[in-house]
Amino acid sequence: MPPDCLATSSTDGRLARRRTTGLPAALAAEIICVSLFKVSSYNHIAPGYSSTMTLCHRFNRCLVPCLVIVLLGLGVAGCGDPDSHMRGETTHSAKTFAGSYPMKVTCSTGQVAEMLERVGGEYVQVEALVGPGIDPHMYGPTASDVERLVGADAIFYNGLHLEGRMADLFVQLARKRATYAVTEGIVARKDKRLRELEGLDDPHVWHDVALWKDCVHDVAAMLGEFDPQHARQYDENAHAYMGELAELDQYCRNEIAKIPENRRVLVTAHDAFGYFGTAYEIEVFGLKGISSEDEIDLAHQDDIKALLIERRIPAVFVESAIAPRTIDSLVETCRAAGWDVVNGGELYADALGEAGSKSSNYAGMIRHNVQTIVQALSK
Ligand SMILES: [Zn+2]
Repeated sequence: MPPDCLATSSTDGRLARRRTTGLPAALAAEIICVSLFKVSSYNHIAPGYSSTMTLCHRFNRCLVPCLVIVLLGLGVAGCGDPDSHMRGETTHSAKTFAGSYPMKVTCSTGQVAEMLERVGGEYVQVEALVGPGIDPHMYGPTASDVERLVGADAIFYNGLHLEGRMADLFVQLARKRATYAVTEGIVARKDKRLRELEGLDDPHVWHDVALWKDCVHDVAAMLGEFDPQHARQYDENAHAYMGELAELDQYCRNEIAKIPENRRVLVTAHDAFGYFGTAYEIEVFGLKGISSEDEIDLAHQDDIKALLIERRIPAVFVESAIAPRTIDSLVETCRAAGWDVVNGGELYADALGEAGSKSSNYAGMIRHNVQTIVQALSK
């Protein structure tokens, strides 16, 4: 029997050590090691993703359990190279499922989980770590998340650094579990639609429905590789879902075209809608960068204010997983300058809506965003 392991909980932001029975000690040690490694290298690999305060907080949170593991003599070998996932690339070796159905599949976000449910159908039992209204950029895995990941038959995540605080963990898990980034295919093919901003990949690919549709096709191939005996079924399921997404893509195109051309400007809290803007021909501006962890550049905010006033754009939008104060203050400064811009409503930038709501599924979430944008900008 392996000794009990210690892991950290980050949900409430306080240092908390929890006993997690049944978690393989060596893997837990590696995971904690990776977290510690990441603290020292985070600014190097992705300067826009973390603040000094966050680094200090993470350091305090990781150091104690890591030292405990070392003192327990469990060994902390094989710290991963965090650069290896910079473009969503994992190093999963070919693994084949050999257990009983349904396969346990653990996913990072709701939209990835829905993709796996639709493609995997009756052969999978899917759960998502990041729930509705929770920001995946800021999300750190809890002890129970680590247990769910370690207990999974397969793991799927977005990649492209969306899960900034879990990315190294996924790379580590890929050594022992079938672990896939759903964006691996579009990265490997160097898809021209992929967007880069100041050297960082934009992870919000699901906002271009046609691009997400291609990820669905790739996921069918990944599941088929892992569970070859049902590969054909996965392909059929994927094509049924892709048909729905093709219709959804056309819907977005038709609806956004209804906005008067000079008002097709989408201003939100962070730069999550770049793919949406390119796909559906609307200019996009985020107060923060492509991670919600980025700081607001005040000069950039002034430029956005000037553009709203000059183009007489009637509305700006808040995001479900980000506090509305950044957008509220932009509205106030525009009003103080004489332009009565309004808060056009809430968009789902990074997470699906609450369970039971119309936006709790991918298509519903996209339709909600499109309707909210069209309504507010057409007035
Ligand atoms: Zn985001």
